[in-house]
Amino acid sequence: MDASKQFCPNEACSARGQKEQGNIIIHDRKRQRYRCKACKHTFSARRGTMFEGLRKPVDLIVIVVTLLTYGCPIQAIVHAFGLDERTVADWRDRAGAPCHKVHQAIVEQGQLDLMHVQADEMRVKGCKMIAWMGLAMMVSTRLWVAGVVQVSRDRSLADRLLSQVRRSAQALRPLLVLTDGWAAYPKSICRAFREKVKQTKGPGRAYLQVWPELHIGTVIKRTEKKRVVEITRRMTHGLLAQAEKLLLLSHGGRSLNTAFIERLNGTFRERLASLTRKSRHAARRLRALETGMYLIGCTYNFCFVHHELSKASHVGSPCTPAMAAGLTDHVWSIWELLSYRIAPPPWIEPKRRGRPGKQAEPIKTVRNRPRVRLRKGVLCSTTV
Ligand SMILES: [Zn+2]
Repeated sequence: MDASKQFCPNEACSARGQKEQGNIIIHDRKRQRYRCKACKHTFSARRGTMFEGLRKPVDLIVIVVTLLTYGCPIQAIVHAFGLDERTVADWRDRAGAPCHKVHQAIVEQGQLDLMHVQADEMRVKGCKMIAWMGLAMMVSTRLWVAGVVQVSRDRSLADRLLSQVRRSAQALRPLLVLTDGWAAYPKSICRAFREKVKQTKGPGRAYLQVWPELHIGTVIKRTEKKRVVEITRRMTHGLLAQAEKLLLLSHGGRSLNTAFIERLNGTFRERLASLTRKSRHAARRLRALETGMYLIGCTYNFCFVHHELSKASHVGSPCTPAMAAGLTDHVWSIWELLSYRIAPPPWIEPKRRGRPGKQAEPIKTVRNRPRVRLRKGVLCSTTV
């Protein structure tokens, strides 16, 4: 147990979220509990992680989640480890939560120079439902930047996906976005990548202007008998010459393409059992799909070494997409990902509102009457 790496998770504590301040001490080694000296509360070493409240050994949980990230069906895990089916499903859902947090805290706050982004959506066949999963990636580092799951394939799917991409991007950088021929994309992209511009002095509304160096390309594939027979490439916004420059800079092929996102779709389909085509493990709930997506996406970004990135032509040593994007400096273990905790924001003393109160003055008592002391057996002058 290492108290210096812990922080107080108590929201009401004045020392919450602070590391190495000496306020955390070990409370109980046997039960793995720490104690905060500021608020006197104790908390478990598993607090705020995926393992909180679970009684099974951490090693077993990590093994099961690792198998799930490789697309192992739940039934196989149930058979191999003698666990209940609901337990494994619960662990998968629980594992998705820290992954979602990691994505929000690291990728969405990354301020990345995206340069070249590809977006696409997948049709997912669930049990008595059809769902859509939109995915987007940064091509130069192969980083998965955004994912959305929804029952309908409409404008809101594209809007949610691209606003998530926007959150991870550095503003006003040259950017090329390539998508397939779905008509909702170009307008959604323009809506996501625009900034407020004030054109007149003084009060008044600021205009929203699309980034000047935003380029949108569309790649439409026509198929006959499941074979691609014709590819139409066109620019829907921006200039082709600039788009080709960005393609070259990001090592994203020579012509407009969606090959990289289609490869990522393949990785997701391969690793998430419910996304596999003609699968017998169809998803029953949308939430299971979403947690599964975050689990696969975050392990892809942080835990698994990317084959192409590790080649000498790119980085030359074992490298994950998050390392290539400069978001981390090492390959994460699954345990590290699952036990990732986000510290609560530092406590700020609440501001006093209104006029400062007057200093209380000592109350003066005014005596109108002379003090009368009653004595036993003597008549008092005032009572006569
Ligand atoms: Zn505390």
